[in-house]
Amino acid sequence: MFSAFINILYPSICISCKSQLMKKEVVFCAQCETEFPAVKPNESKLRLKLDGRAKIENFYALTRFTRSSKIQKAIHLLKYGDKPKVGHQLGIAFANKITLDKSIDYIIPVPLHPIKLKNRGYNQSEEFANGISYKNTIPIINSILHKTSHTQSQASKNRNERLVFNPKAYKLDDKQKILQERHILLVDDVITTGVTLENCIAAFKDVKNIRISIAVIAFTE
Ligand SMILES: [Zn+2]
Repeated sequence: MFSAFINILYPSICISCKSQLMKKEVVFCAQCETEFPAVKPNESKLRLKLDGRAKIENFYALTRFTRSSKIQKAIHLLKYGDKPKVGHQLGIAFANKITLDKSIDYIIPVPLHPIKLKNRGYNQSEEFANGISYKNTIPIINSILHKTSHTQSQASKNRNERLVFNPKAYKLDDKQKILQERHILLVDDVITTGVTLENCIAAFKDVKNIRISIAVIAFTE
């Protein structure tokens, strides 16, 4: 009853189609959520993103990234619109659609540099990871992998600048031992060139017998 009262005061609407949300719908209406194009785990176009550059167990994506689509709008709000809840809800949508490998021990979101984190106020990949974690009850570790260099926003660079592999862009701290013999799910927002994830994976190179799977909200074709 209390939430119904709140709804009258602040009707919540779908961020995509602006229709009024029903009970249990958060951020998107059920209709908009079903319109995200489905991606099968390990689909070849997805695996090709890091083919020959990193060893990946399983590759998961909620959907494809297409211009002027509902997912583009949602991701834009998540990254630039101060809407962390969108990430959490996308994580729930991901978990509703995709069955993860049962052997995954931990979820690790791709970290932001502390300066960027301060500017945005939250890490969009961590918000997405939270939704996945919540539905799958897999713990998140967000204090072990660190971004070392502060780079310009991807959007402000030209394509060539974005393509640079830098194995020192991320580093693990001395708690990394708990990752030995474990299977981790590395979580990012969108995969375009694959360089961000490639750089992250490079940071795990000395962890004994670690297995790495990837989850993203969307991938560009
Ligand atoms: Zn909608």
